Amino acid sequence: SLQELTRLKKLIIDLLELTRAENPRVLSGEKANLPIILQQLVKNLEMIHPDFLFTMEVDQQLPLIAMSEQHLQQILIILLDNSVKYSRENKTIVISAKRKGNEILLSVMDRGIGIQSEHIPEVFNRFYRIDKARSRESGGTGLGLSIAKQLIEKNNGAISIQSKEGIGTKVNILLPTV
Ligand code: ATP
Repeated sequence: SLQELTRLKKLIIDLLELTRAENPRVLSGEKANLPIILQQLVKNLEMIHPDFLFTMEVDQQLPLIAMSEQHLQQILIILLDNSVKYSRENKTIVISAKRKGNEILLSVMDRGIGIQSEHIPEVFNRFYRIDKARSRESGGTGLGLSIAKQLIEKNNGAISIQSKEGIGTKVNILLPTV
């Protein structure tokens, strides 16, 4: 069916992305301006999802991030797309970014369905999806977070998740500044 074909196509694209994330060309001297990338992304997301409220709590004058703009954008899209996909009635997403020593602490928080604590350690595994029947309608492959984790760690950052079922999810990432 067309739906199966669409899923297959997304799987192939995600697998290609994962391969790229495993072998990123980390060019020395690459830097990304987080507030500018966020502004563009959120502007587009507000158009695609007019029913959502995106709130930004981003420090003024953040240092540049030591990572390519393309990688940073890809990571943000994965996290924001998940927050949208796994939100229900409360369509509020808060993005915050602040400086913490030589790093930037970036977080994406939603008020969606949340993740049961026993599943949290597994969500970074390839193809892992909680409750396949439920998530099938949102059409993911279970590769998004593993791609994000690869990209973040190859760029010397770290990612962690806090979540409560029925309350919401907060993904925290630490990224080195230039
Ligand atoms: P895709 O590859 O399209 O991102 P996916 O969303 O299924 O598909 P991941 O991004 O790797 O894959 O996420 C893995 C699983 O973790 C999801 O299937 C979902 O169950 C859970 N999850 C991820 N983000 C959230 C979130 N913000 N709120 C609730 N559950 C989440």
